[in-house]
This record gives sequence, structure tokens and C-alpha cells, in this order.
Amino acid sequence: MAKHKTHYEECDILVVGGGMAGTGATFEARHWGRDMKIICVEKANIDRSGAVAQGLYAINCYMGMQWDENQPEDHVRYARNDLMGMVREDLGYDMARHVDSAVHMFEEWGLPMMKNEETGRYLREGKWQIMIHGESYKPIVAEAAKKSADKIYNRIMITHLLMDETQENRVGGAVGFNMRTGDFHVFRAKTVIVAAGGASHIFKPRAVGEGMGRTWYAPWSNGSAYALPIAVGAKMTQMENRIVLCRFKDGYGPVGAYFLHLKTYTQNANGENYEKKWYEQTKELVGEYIDHHPTPTCLRNHAFIQETIAGGGPIHMVTTEAFQDPHLETVGWENFLGMTVGQAVVWASQNIDPKYTNPELTTSEPYVMGSHATCSGAWVSGPEDLSPPEYFWGYNRMLTVDGLFGAGDTVGGSAHKFSSGSFTEGRLAAKAAVKYIEDKKAEGLKVSDNQCEDFKEKVYKPLENYTVGSNEITGGTVSPSYISPIQGLQRLQRIMDEYVGGIATNYMTNANMLKRGLELLEWLQEDLEKVGAEDYHQLMRAWELKHRALTSQCVTEHTMFREETRWPGYYYRGDHMKLDDDNWHCLTVSRRDPETGKFSMEKVPVYHIVDENEKKKAS
Ligand SMILES: Cc1cc2nc3c(=O)[nH]c(=O)nc-3n(C[C@H](O)[C@H](O)[C@H](O)COP(=O)(O)OP(=O)(O)OC[C@H]3O[C@@H](n4cnc5c(N)ncnc54)[C@H](O)[C@@H]3O)c2cc1C
Repeated sequence: MAKHKTHYEECDILVVGGGMAGTGATFEARHWGRDMKIICVEKANIDRSGAVAQGLYAINCYMGMQWDENQPEDHVRYARNDLMGMVREDLGYDMARHVDSAVHMFEEWGLPMMKNEETGRYLREGKWQIMIHGESYKPIVAEAAKKSADKIYNRIMITHLLMDETQENRVGGAVGFNMRTGDFHVFRAKTVIVAAGGASHIFKPRAVGEGMGRTWYAPWSNGSAYALPIAVGAKMTQMENRIVLCRFKDGYGPVGAYFLHLKTYTQNANGENYEKKWYEQTKELVGEYIDHHPTPTCLRNHAFIQETIAGGGPIHMVTTEAFQDPHLETVGWENFLGMTVGQAVVWASQNIDPKYTNPELTTSEPYVMGSHATCSGAWVSGPEDLSPPEYFWGYNRMLTVDGLFGAGDTVGGSAHKFSSGSFTEGRLAAKAAVKYIEDKKAEGLKVSDNQCEDFKEKVYKPLENYTVGSNEITGGTVSPSYISPIQGLQRLQRIMDEYVGGIATNYMTNANMLKRGLELLEWLQEDLEKVGAEDYHQLMRAWELKHRALTSQCVTEHTMFREETRWPGYYYRGDHMKLDDDNWHCLTVSRRDPETGKFSMEKVPVYHIVDENEKKKAS
């Protein structure tokens, strides 16, 4: 262990992850905490890290309140509808009422916004989306964070949260290692804001072998946002609510601009509108939810999946009409150049010119994230002016561990935040974290050197496993006493795929399959003690895997608990195929006991605050 130098830092606010939420948190922390010490720690490099790394072509969450285009209430109704009723409306409203100001700052900081030439307003792609020239989106928000932080640490992966030793259930910082130097880093902190993105690669991806790593969601999003809080006993919510995306096949290029701006549409192999065909069957499962407008994302997936199972595939996006218009053709291509160049390359390799050939679509493997059309994540306090007692415990976006805050994909229950909403939520969390410190809630913290040394030993164990175990290899690379991170990852992905509702079963699972999945995940956890890493990069892979495995256990426990099929098209409980509002119109909340590793589950009421308030005002 002596080989790895330890660096110590003490700070007021530690931001884990410098993506959209993390940069927002770092920026806002400085605004309210002028004299505070603020550190942001990032696994990659904040200039090009997170899901927005390559850029975006649209900001997907902008109200347009200055022009009375939408109000926060409208967005709450929209997210509630899309998530089949299951959202934290206090969190959604709070984000929506602040998001426009964040977008206005992006423009001030130099992000090129597309404008409607006639009205001068931001050019709308859809009701909530505005179009940008967004290749430089991430470097721009990174610059704001860099100017705000006392220090940004790049290339450090946070592996564990530290806990205060004087007061139960209070955070004390975090530890991690530098993936280039191998040094160990201890950050003692009064508050920690976890903003480490969502989780890809927990389910087996469609692209394996030569295409491995080609997923819709960022392959480096490894569930740290969930595993770090789960490990210290923070409560989580809606972890069963994984997301499945309908995207262009193989390249996973985005379809939003195509549907909304180019007005393209989908059809089955016979040129039919297949969505209509599945209307009655879907109504049987979910009742009147199928009549909602817009049709919830999961139900559109459902029609796609059913049509494919019934033999109506491949499903195509009809681009050949829109692409005859030279302007729309340019928009169609530019849409990829700013964020998914790979899709254009895939089409070139498959001889597809969307002007003459309708490209194929597919549904992705499931991902876990809290900021897109889904809302898995941590159970957090809402704002004091909006939240009912069950949703409020003092500080906005604080988890059920004192001093531990979350934002973006980390936070559950608040879907459709996207890039701008995640940045906004980071700001909200940082403001509350500053107040927590000012209220003297972080006084007398103690994090002993022993606690840090224990973690240091754990963190480097995979290197030791490899060093010792590799001596036993007599041929090839197969070791009798350790598994490599890639072997562990593939085992995890198969368990999740085959038992928890991945692509292998057309997203189908049931209690028996989940029970078996949980057993296999537990054994995997045992074996992960024996994961071996040959260098620091593989050490990162080992810890990414451990975080993914813990996240997966939580997802599986939640999926087991909710005995209904709330989101057909995201996953199916074959033993409870119907949506069941009588018993399951509620949020699910879990807690893993850090001592025993056992999960406990509870139902928490879902409050429809927006329209309740309106009803009260009217009466
Ligand atoms: C493919 C795709 C397309 C999208 N398209 C759009 C769009 O067009 N418009 C839009 O508005 N939104 C879009 N989004 C949504 C948007 O990107 C996310 O909502 C947003 O990035 C979430 O912010 P975040 O900070 O939670 O996560 P991220 O921005 O992903 O940031 C997480 C950060 O944490 C770091 N990290 C992870 N683990 C650790 C660790 N253990 N230690 C230290 N650092 C760590 C990561 O490296 C990363 O920098 C898209 C998302 C995806 C995946």
C-alpha cells in the first residue's frame, strides 16, 4: 500500500462528477458560498465528460416563460403523463421554475442558440426542446465550473463515501484514486454533492463483440451516482423504472429532431402504421393511459416491441420524404454531426442514404438514469415551499444521509430534466448545501485516518488479486483465482439481461426470474471480491463493475417489489401484466442496510401537487 501516495484535501463542498449537474453545482456553490472551499472531482476531464461530452443539438428542457410558451405546471403535467403518473411533482416543478435562467446563462457564456428569424425567439424543435449549435456545450459549462471551483481534479474516480464518526448517518467526504498516477485521494468534506451520471452496461447491450461499447447511453456512466449513496444506506426510489430507447439501429443516433423538426414517422416492413394496430391490446394492459396525449414514451416502445415480436419488423423511420427538402436534409445530417457522428458513419458503412433509403430503428437495452424519460435515483428532500411532509426533511435535494446531496441522473422521481434541468438541479443542490453549512449542520465532523486507510486497502485490492493470482496462470490468461473486470461485467450483463427484463426476453421478467436473478447477483458480489486488475485502467474498470453490480441489485429488488406492469415497453412483469392503480399508484423506496447488505422496501404516496393546488385554489 505504501507504493500509493495518499493526498489529503479538506473542503466545504465536494462535487463528485463534473458533468451537467456537477458543473451546475460547482458554479452555484461559489455564488452562495463566496468564502467556501469548493472542489469538483471528475473521473474523466470535465471539458469533455459525461453524457454531453460530444455535444448536443437540442436543449430538451426549456419552458420559455419569458414568452409565455410554457409554465412549470405544464411541464409537471407532461412528465407525470409520460411516466404513467409516477413522478415527484415537487422536484419537477422546482426544476422547471428555474431552468430557463440556466439556459439564459448558457447563451451569455457563448453557446450558439438557433433563433426563429421571424419572432427572434429560440428556435423550437418541439414543445420543450430548443435547438442549439451544441458541439461546444460541455466545454462552455466546464469553463464556468473551472472559474468557480477552488480546485478541479480530473482523472480521479471516487470509489467510496466517507462517513462522520461522531454522528450517525452524516457524510464526511469521499475517497478515490487517480487513474493515471495511481495515487490515493482523501477528500474530507462538510457536504458532498453526488452528480456522477446514470448507469449503462448493466444490461447486456445489443452490440457485443466487435461493436462492444456502442450503446445509446454513455459507456462510461457506470452507476456510481447510485452505488455511492446505496453503499452508505441512502434511500433510493423508482429504481425499477429503467429506460429503453427507440433509436436508429446500430449507431443509436437520436430520433427526436427527426420526429419533431423533420416531421418524419415510422412504419413496419409492409409500410403500415403499426402503432394503431396495438391500440386495443395496450388498452387492455394500461386502460385509459393509452389515450393520453402525447402517448407516453413507454407505450410507443410497447407497440414497436409487440410489432417486432409479431413478425412485422424491421421497423423503419420514413426519411425519404423529408429529405427531399434540401434544408431538412441538411438539418438531418447536422443533427448527427453535433452529437452522434457515429450514426452517419454507420449509415455510410451500410450504404444507407436517408434521402433514398428509410433507415431501420431498434429498441435499446435498458439503462438506469434519473434525468431522461425515466426517473430512477436517490430519494431526496424537496423544496420547503412545495413539498408535503413525506417529501421534505430540511434541505432541498438532500438524500436521507445528512450532508449528502444529489443532482441530475442521481436524483430519482424527477424525469425529463435533461441537460439543462440537470445543470439547474445541480445549482439547487449547491444552494442548499451552502445553507446546510451556514446552519452549522456540519460542525464537529470526524473522519479518522483509520477509516481512510481501510478504504485504501479495499480500493487497491484488485491490483493485489492480480499480482498474486497471475503467478498461478500456466497458460493463456485464465486465472484459477481471480476474474477480470470484463469477465465480471459480461456475467453481470447476462444475469440482468436474462432474469431482470433485458433484450434476451423482450424485456419480460417475473417474480421467479427475479428471485433467481437476485441469487446470482449475490454470488457475483462474492466473486467480485476476487476481481483482478493488471493496471490502473483496469482498476477503474474493476470499481466501475462493483458500482454497476450494486446498482443492479437495487434495480432487481425494486423490480421484484412492484407487482404490476406500470411501463410496458420499458419492462414487463409476466406474472402481473396489467397496470394496477388500485395497489401501485405509489412510489417505491428502498434502503440497503450497510451492515447486512439486505434491502428493505416501502411504498410512499405519490402526490399530484400541481392539480391539487389548482383544485384548492378553485374551491
Ligand atoms: C445519448 C444521450 C443523448 C442525450 N441528448 C440530449 C439532448 O439532445 N438534449 C438534452 O438536453 N439532453 C440530452 N441528454 C440528457 C443529458 O445528457 C443528461 O440529462 C445530463 O447529462 C445528465 O447530467 P448528469 O450530470 O447527471 O450526468 P453526466 O452529464 O453524464 O455527468 C456525470 C459525470 O460524472 C462523472 N463520473 C461518473 N462516475 C464518477 C466517479 N465514480 N467519480 C468521479 N466522477 C464520476 C462522469 O465522468 C461524468 O462527467 C442526452 C443523454 C444521452 C445519454
